[in-house]
Amino acid sequence: MSSKTIFQRIIDREIKADIVFEDDLCLAFRDVAPQTPVHVLIIPKTPLRSLNDVTDEHANLAGHLLSVARRLAGELGLTNGYRLVTNCGPDGGQSVDHLHFHLLGGRALGWPPG
Ligand code: AMP
Repeated sequence: MSSKTIFQRIIDREIKADIVFEDDLCLAFRDVAPQTPVHVLIIPKTPLRSLNDVTDEHANLAGHLLSVARRLAGELGLTNGYRLVTNCGPDGGQSVDHLHFHLLGGRALGWPPG
């Protein structure tokens, strides 16, 4: 059995995803279980496990992921606002150990999260 995460398998094209953006550094695809009308995951191609693996060494990559999120929000029509979330570790509700940002929008979102 493969020890790759499901997101690494999407990067490696071993399983299909509804990809909305890709470049050398990252991939963005629609969440298979969307929580909002627009729910896209933005992931680095480099296998960082969570935000806890991000250091100053990744400053360019981290900035790029945020820039891609902002651009996708515009392209996906989230003109009235959106939320960008990363769940980190068990208490954060992280279920896939590959850093990812949830881009959520298309309706008014509640606060605080559960
Ligand atoms: P998290 O709980 O923050 O780790 O988020 C993981 C997200 O990945 C969840 O929202 C899942 O619905 C989503 N997910 C899991 N497998 C897939 C897949 N094969 N394609 C797209 N999204 C997925």
